[in-house]
Amino acid sequence: MKTHVENVEYHDPVLCETKHIFAQIPQEPSLERRAYLKQVIPQLLKKNEALLVAHYYVHPDVQDLAESTGGVVADSLEMARFGAKTEQSTLIVAGVRFMGETAKILSPHKTILMPSLEADCSLDLGCPSDAFRSFREQYPHHTVVVYANTSAAVKAQADWVVTSGCALEIVNHLKNSGQKILWAPDQHLGAYIQEKTKADMVLWMGSCIVHDEFKAIELDLLKQQYPTWKVLVHPESPREVIQLADYVGSTSGMIREAKRVQAQGYIVATDKGLLHQLKKAVPEAQWIPAPTAGESATCKSCAHCPWMAMNELENLYALLQNPAAAQSIQVNHSLILQAQLPIQRMLDFTANRIQSTALGIGPA
Ligand code: SF4
Repeated sequence: MKTHVENVEYHDPVLCETKHIFAQIPQEPSLERRAYLKQVIPQLLKKNEALLVAHYYVHPDVQDLAESTGGVVADSLEMARFGAKTEQSTLIVAGVRFMGETAKILSPHKTILMPSLEADCSLDLGCPSDAFRSFREQYPHHTVVVYANTSAAVKAQADWVVTSGCALEIVNHLKNSGQKILWAPDQHLGAYIQEKTKADMVLWMGSCIVHDEFKAIELDLLKQQYPTWKVLVHPESPREVIQLADYVGSTSGMIREAKRVQAQGYIVATDKGLLHQLKKAVPEAQWIPAPTAGESATCKSCAHCPWMAMNELENLYALLQNPAAAQSIQVNHSLILQAQLPIQRMLDFTANRIQSTALGIGPA
């Protein structure tokens, strides 16, 4: 399989030494080869009794295959939750490493495979568990809230795990019960939540290399060019970009909002991979990714995560041809038990919220 190596400059000497990270991206197959792979992969999934779950940011072909074969396209938590409910004993997780680990935490008895075990995440890389432990020990009386984009070893140290879809509500709930919060790892999401809830928070200063690169000045110019269009922004983006948004929310939230608003067009500040589902949700609308520094300038990701791009039809096919030879995601048993607690706390909180809303006794 032909691949090209994309260097990802990410170096934060205070938090971790990761300046030599890279993404090994498979070359997109020819049209004929893609047609063949799309025909044969469903058969291999069936033969291996495996289920494909994919993240919104992976290649559209992989997203379509997940949907057409009974799997799901979703955010990291929904991928894991969906996988845990299904009967297949093997889950193929098309995403990045922490998503495979989350799937393993929620389905410890299943085999979790990934098209590439080297697909990583700058938020996860930027929050190594030992450094995080030292940070946490400085704030022994704070409630530890970590974002889903962390390793199992970091989740195991948390009181709560949250996603961008429920973080605001959970932090607000903790603040209202008088708790101080230690937040990790995304600084922009943490600052956004702090501003909204006025909670007492200390923040770990990690960032996502994709969202960190959206540019407010250029976005403002684009807004002037398309004054009737709506701007959807993921809260991992910098504050100045968030301030220009008509809607700030998670990937699933953006899809819901686009369906609700039915605007003529949208400018989207998140990974370009989401455009595939957004276009399906509102086919008549027009879509533009929010501006970054641009490919010829200093842009490192240009609105597409290089690790998510490591999930392609060819490596999915290679994996399914011989799954027994593949390395599966392994998480230490005691870490699984520790990490399950903060995840379960979030699942219970969000389940109660849904129930209360249905009964008309909670926030809408
Ligand atoms: S898009 Fe950002 S947060 Fe998501 S996996 Fe890539 S680096 Fe991590």
